[in-house]
Amino acid sequence: MFWVGGRWMASFDERKNYDITTRIHSMMCQFMKRKSSRSLQSCAGVSFGTKVCRNQASRLNLQAYSFNLILVPLSRRLLLQAAGIAAGSLVAPKLLSGRAKAAEAIAPTLNTSLDACTPPGDPIKALLERNMKFSKVWQALGDGVSPRERMALKVSMFEEGCQIDRLALAEGQRPWAALISCADARVAPEWIFSAGSGELFQVRVAGNSAFDDGIASLEYAVAVLEVPLILVLGHSGCGAVKAAMSTAPLTPLLEDLVKPIRSSLKSSDDLTQAIEGNARYAAGQLTKRSAVLKEAEASGKVLIKSAFFDIKSGEVSLLN
Ligand SMILES: [Zn+2]
Repeated sequence: MFWVGGRWMASFDERKNYDITTRIHSMMCQFMKRKSSRSLQSCAGVSFGTKVCRNQASRLNLQAYSFNLILVPLSRRLLLQAAGIAAGSLVAPKLLSGRAKAAEAIAPTLNTSLDACTPPGDPIKALLERNMKFSKVWQALGDGVSPRERMALKVSMFEEGCQIDRLALAEGQRPWAALISCADARVAPEWIFSAGSGELFQVRVAGNSAFDDGIASLEYAVAVLEVPLILVLGHSGCGAVKAAMSTAPLTPLLEDLVKPIRSSLKSSDDLTQAIEGNARYAAGQLTKRSAVLKEAEASGKVLIKSAFFDIKSGEVSLLN
């Protein structure tokens, strides 16, 4: 599998695109605004579990709503209920008309801004190159380094970096890679891959397992945001994997957390082998448990890989 024209296998239709949630939010608010003499700030009162379309802060709710729209199309009635719009409105057919039409309405300048940090080539290669930059700085940050030198080293990690315009980020997101990584404080993807806001879509949980809500989040990343890569990142000294290997008693919730890790363990594993096996297992679970991700991988829309992060060296290596 290789990276061509912004997609794996070149089979993905134009990535020109957009954040559909922003588009839907805009359409709904514009409609409601027309329906009412009230301002956009008050185009609310819509019940869908929580209120939607109240103002900018409501966008998150709309994102969850539009996610349903993409993956599990809502009935017209439910859609109208969700929008607080009377049956007979023309809004529902517009909303259901598909991503292609929705994409047309996004300003090209917005897309350009959101893509400002997207690497032009293979995203895996880009992640590893960014990590190489990080690991060099990480290794240089020893005890003998003065605070001034330390600051200079940290700045050097980002000095050639880009910055996505904050106003564009306020309107949408177009991350170029997604990760499942551990909740461990030493394993922050933006740090490890020298990345800024809006670049990496992240699911984090102790032990980097593929849990239901995490998989659902990745379905959103792939189906809606068109992220072309999912990387499951295990790391050295992972406490969750240690707990899974131990017979020490855990709380009921922690028992649940380590269950998938235990499923990946082999009796002969040492800690590093167990961590690597767990990352591979979690990557395999994504397509096993999600039809959306399975189809996306089969059609070349997304590549799913696993990797190991060594905290001491700061280096990330891909797993087979
Ligand atoms: Zn961990």
